Amino acid sequence: MKNKPFRIAMLATLVIFAVISAFVIFNQKDQDVISTSDEFPPIEGQPTMGNSESVVQVVEFGDFKCPSCKAWGESIYPQLIKDYVETDKISFSYINVLFHGKESELASLAAESVYKMDPSSYWDFQKRLYEEQPTQNRDGKWVTIEKLLEVAAETTEVDLEELETELNERTMQEEVDLDAELVREFDVQFTPSIMVNGTMLEDPFDYDAIKSLIDEGLEDNQ
Ligand code: CA
Repeated sequence: MKNKPFRIAMLATLVIFAVISAFVIFNQKDQDVISTSDEFPPIEGQPTMGNSESVVQVVEFGDFKCPSCKAWGESIYPQLIKDYVETDKISFSYINVLFHGKESELASLAAESVYKMDPSSYWDFQKRLYEEQPTQNRDGKWVTIEKLLEVAAETTEVDLEELETELNERTMQEEVDLDAELVREFDVQFTPSIMVNGTMLEDPFDYDAIKSLIDEGLEDNQ
């Protein structure tokens, strides 16, 4: 009998909590997002630029063979970098997606090797590789070891013979598999997929939506 008021108080607290939770979830549906999770993709060991200590992390899940990723890199990425990475407000990371099969995988193996051997050149290599993606005959084969070595020669200081050996021996396979695992875990459905903290954008080309999620995250943690 003594515990009755306590129980009522507990029950009332639970009811209030449930109402608030429902309200929060209901309101989240108003934003242009696919899913929101408390878990953020782990970016340790992933190519990351900007402020790695920032409370806001933006992750691109990209595929070197994907035309939309090339388009995103030319339209949205430069603005995002200028507004938030060069100003040190956020961290920006890239995780490989292998939706286009063997060529996606080969390009990812090369990117992982470059990141390991010459991390400061990684982003130049990545940008240049997307530039090499043909605008015509997009499904035609273009990712070859020769092409990857050519791009590495132009953008990095890596030892090309060593890179060639790594590609032939698939040295960075574990890193590529880890990325593929993250793609499954975070239910990446298309490329590019852009995640701001735990929130996946419905339209990665909607820069205003990306911006408002970032600004919200920065404000919440001031
Ligand atoms: Ca990776």
